[in-house]
Amino acid sequence: MIEKITFDGVVQGKKILILGAVHGNETAGPNALFKVIDDIQSYRINLKRGCVTFVPICNLIAYQKDVRQVDENLNRVIKHHDNPITYEQKIANEISSLIEQNDILLDLHSTHCQGDVPFVFCDYPTSDNLKLIEAIDVDYVLLGWPQIYSGHADITDYSTERYAHDCHKSGVTLECGYHKEPKATDVAYNAVLNVLKQYGMIDGISHISHCKTNIYLTEFIIKRKNGRLCQNYKHLDRILKGQKIAQYDDGEVLTASQDGYILLPNGSAEIGTEWYYLGTQNK
Ligand SMILES: [Zn+2]
Repeated sequence: MIEKITFDGVVQGKKILILGAVHGNETAGPNALFKVIDDIQSYRINLKRGCVTFVPICNLIAYQKDVRQVDENLNRVIKHHDNPITYEQKIANEISSLIEQNDILLDLHSTHCQGDVPFVFCDYPTSDNLKLIEAIDVDYVLLGWPQIYSGHADITDYSTERYAHDCHKSGVTLECGYHKEPKATDVAYNAVLNVLKQYGMIDGISHISHCKTNIYLTEFIIKRKNGRLCQNYKHLDRILKGQKIAQYDDGEVLTASQDGYILLPNGSAEIGTEWYYLGTQNK
């Protein structure tokens, strides 16, 4: 059973669900949510409208072990499982019920490399989701996730965002920067407060300092055998057409097919999982 806490405002309003540690080693979300919960319980923040439910730690066992997952990637199995087998499928059943009970989802994640730039995923750019993203103070929005997964029958992408969309709810995923960077907790904390302000749930106006750049995902690469990334890439590093990105131990080299960006590089990816993504500013 996942632990959650719900706060109700005096006046009716939106119902918001905010998740942390869907991936166990992504601690920025839990750190920020414990802080917001304490702010509300100590009356430093007054929830005046609507209803907010926090799940600071979705994947508890992975969080306790400081690993991404126990049996499988929780953010690829978010739906109802009639006969849940893995640990993550059992959690997915609880999370999908919570998503159904709320109007808006904010899912807080973080990324693998020191210096990673925060960004928000907008898998479904509906007007409701764009309103939600408006409140989040990051420089980059990543689009096109469902499209790059649609051609891969062997990999499912049942994410929290997808489940929210399938249930006609708003939902976005915020990647707050590198897991262990204290700044990532600040990004998560500010985003939570700004989102609550955006829907009139707490006092204040969300202050956003800059315009966002849209990056369109073009493909992802599954690590098929032993190998390594050719550089110590960070998320959103620029790459050039023909640039060597990765090399397998048997000598096979993977290159970029166009100018653009490397996204979410995971130097310690397991074989059979996503190694890195590529994207461009051009739609
Ligand atoms: Zn994550």
